[in-house]
Amino acid sequence: AKWVYGFGDGTAEGTAGMRELLGGKGANLAEMSSLGLPVPPGFTISTEVCTYYYAHDRQYPADLRDQVDAALARVGALVGKRFGDTKNPLLVSVRSGARASMPGMMDTVLNLGLNDETVEAVAALAGDRRFAFDSYRRFIQMYSNVVLGIDHHNFEDILEFYKDEKGHTLDTDLSADEWQEIVARYKICVEEHLGKPFPQDPAEQLWGAIGAVFGSWMNQRAITYRRLNAIPESWGTAVNVQAMVFGNMGETSATGVAFTRNPSTGEKELYGEFLVNAQGEDVVAGIRTPQDLTERARIAAGSDKPSLEALMPDCFAEFTRICDTLERHYRDMQDLEFTIERGKLWMLQTRSGKRTARAALRIAVDLANEGLISRDEAIRRVDPQALDQLLHPTIDPKAERKVMARGLPASPGAAQGEIVFDADTAEELAAEGRKVILVRVETSPEDIHGMHAAQGILTTRGGMTSHAAVVARGMGKPCVSGAGMIRVDYATGTMTAGGVTLKRGDVVTIDGSTGEVLLGEVSMLQPELSGEFAALMEWADAARRMKVRTNAETPADARTARQFGAEGIGLCRTEHMFFDEGRIVAVREMILADGEAGRRAALAKILPMQRQDFVELFEIMAGLPVTIRLLDPPLHEFLPQAEEELAEVAASIGADIQKLRARVQDLHEFNPMLGHRGCRLGITYPEIYEMQARAIFEAAAEAAARTGAPVVPEVMIPLVATRAELDMLKGRIVAVAEAVNREKGTTIKYQIGTMIELPRAALRAAEIAATAEFFSFGTNDLTQTTFGISRDDSARFLAEYVEKGLLESDPFVTLDRDGVGELVRIAAERGRAARPDIKLGICGEHGGDPASIAFCEEVGLDYVSCSPYRVPIARLAAAQAAL
Ligand code: ADP
Ligand code: MG
Ligand code: MG
Repeated sequence: AKWVYGFGDGTAEGTAGMRELLGGKGANLAEMSSLGLPVPPGFTISTEVCTYYYAHDRQYPADLRDQVDAALARVGALVGKRFGDTKNPLLVSVRSGARASMPGMMDTVLNLGLNDETVEAVAALAGDRRFAFDSYRRFIQMYSNVVLGIDHHNFEDILEFYKDEKGHTLDTDLSADEWQEIVARYKICVEEHLGKPFPQDPAEQLWGAIGAVFGSWMNQRAITYRRLNAIPESWGTAVNVQAMVFGNMGETSATGVAFTRNPSTGEKELYGEFLVNAQGEDVVAGIRTPQDLTERARIAAGSDKPSLEALMPDCFAEFTRICDTLERHYRDMQDLEFTIERGKLWMLQTRSGKRTARAALRIAVDLANEGLISRDEAIRRVDPQALDQLLHPTIDPKAERKVMARGLPASPGAAQGEIVFDADTAEELAAEGRKVILVRVETSPEDIHGMHAAQGILTTRGGMTSHAAVVARGMGKPCVSGAGMIRVDYATGTMTAGGVTLKRGDVVTIDGSTGEVLLGEVSMLQPELSGEFAALMEWADAARRMKVRTNAETPADARTARQFGAEGIGLCRTEHMFFDEGRIVAVREMILADGEAGRRAALAKILPMQRQDFVELFEIMAGLPVTIRLLDPPLHEFLPQAEEELAEVAASIGADIQKLRARVQDLHEFNPMLGHRGCRLGITYPEIYEMQARAIFEAAAEAAARTGAPVVPEVMIPLVATRAELDMLKGRIVAVAEAVNREKGTTIKYQIGTMIELPRAALRAAEIAATAEFFSFGTNDLTQTTFGISRDDSARFLAEYVEKGLLESDPFVTLDRDGVGELVRIAAERGRAARPDIKLGICGEHGGDPASIAFCEEVGLDYVSCSPYRVPIARLAAAQAAL
């Protein structure tokens, strides 16, 4: 079998497409070589050897050695040297390379093949002893660390101690003899650790390094990384063996890294760093401060160290040409590693560069405009979830900042609100429409509901990967984590930093992009939605089939959603309007009323307010469809539960506290989510739905008269299980519509439909569709009722289900295609069969989740509806689903 694939000298046995076999690094080295770029020759031992190795009790295939020897001889011939030769030795690097770049794998070993004899030959050939011994000491340290398992610090200590002894500050200060002395001390150190000398035989060194690469596939770090990133163990890693080129051969040599475009902004400019007379990872190791590649960057940074452009103009010019070639070839921004040996440029690695969301967007749009990729390709290249980072407000740079403390910029965007110290309070205040910042020492899964409710999250402990940081990024919420200078006192509800103490309810602004915590309300800028963002959205809009609506009930949310491109409202939850100050009193009166007459009297007070709500929404939506869901939650949600609140509420509505208490008890339910709610309320108290219907139709008439844009309200009846329920309520609503038309002399058009959120409704969709003009899949409840899992209590165990592999993902986050999805599919098919022009949409949280949106496209829904900030995400995801 063929185990080894050579490259170099303008040819290669592999290609970029052979990633699975050669690993990412090996495949791209082969590709660069075939493109005729200057790549030091070498060969790749394929991932199949890794698989073989583990399937055969850590033995290599019998014919591997011969193939490696032949490949080494070929590399030697190309560079005019021989591996192990004492006069003219070939030195190599041994580099691991999995399909996906993977931390935890073996570090690269450079300068392999050096020993006490060959180092002298290298010194003689290069005419530079200092270089030879600098290379040797690097080799001993790297090899001892990654192959022999002797920690770096042993060698670092020896070097530091020696430099102190000699009064040197920089490594570059050491002379040839001094490096030779270091080498001697390193060898003693190795012998002390191993009880035997540092291996002198180049073949033994090579096979030691190859074994270490394959061995590292099964080390704990690699295993953990694979588990977290769902990388199968069967993939294996490849090993690359490559002729060395030397960036440490004096002042005309250098090594560096580069991105072909700016990875944080996406700007089309070469971006990177290099070091003169250095090798390998020196640039990233921070031993010396690296220099900028371009003059432009040097000037911008105010650095006095010359750029590569100024220092080695010919190499720089060639390098920029190569960058261009590689970008055109791979049709993407590249992340490159290069070395210059005595004025000659060598390419050592290329791959698609990691980038921020902002850069990803800009690069995709630029590449399409430059003609390197199609617009469809640009749409595919941007991760919809990542857009989240771009949609949040930022702090006005002109605003005055009173910095109270600093932490880590854990999740982008700025947020402000009253500080609260526990999740329950955050949720309570948010439910009242107040803006809060949740402040915790650190967060845990029990805090999720509070994090959801908060505008932003501030923690005093934990890093960029702490619970708070990870969850906040997932939610797209601004977060500052690890602000250690703040002391939080839960007992007194205060936080203190820099001599300032804030108490619960005081306002702060956090900047999740810089990590700053600012006192008070600081003016913020809304996100920039023009430029590349607008361009990509426009392309996405042209590519998608499904419409994107929003879930919104407040004018502010509706306006935000419009700015983000919402094409109507898919879900307006009217109960949220009932909590508003001024009307909650009337709502409670209605609930406490003794009979229908009393209820109607209270409802009459609510009617004008409710009508005004709808007028505003209709005006903002200017003729776009608006789906309004009639009252859904159980009535006890509007009454106080705690004894101390009862008296207050009784007084405020002028009711007897005994009576109030009795009513609260009366309304108590054991399982409220499956209790007296949704259309069941409308059946028992038709006057409530009649009032809401009247408010809707009167508002439609008023808004149409004012804006001239006809409004077609969609009245949605929740929690329907049977057609009979829907028939009864539809009759009532139609009667209201006719009454309003008669009274106003109008001809308002409207539709009446239902939410499909119970399995029975999904199954009986055919008969329900005979009455319903539209279905909106309420997949939160439908998931809850299909799984029989309470959404509000699932946090305690669902994460464990996912962890143990019982569920692929949280079904409340990503729609369960197999179960809930089947119900959706059935309902869509049966509904359409009964009423071919029935309108189908989704309004659960899933409407903003890209994977779920892909499912909606498959089922052929007409629209998805999601929260305002997810509208752009849904637009892009819907386009990707349609491509
Ligand atoms: P990583 O995957 O950690 O980036 P690499 O295998 O790319 O590891 O090696 C790290 C660095 O080592 C490279 O960027 C390059 O500077 C240096 N290097 C690797 N192979 C060679 C070589 N054949 N000649 C010179 N330098 C090399
Ligand atoms: Mg590399
Ligand atoms: Mg519901």
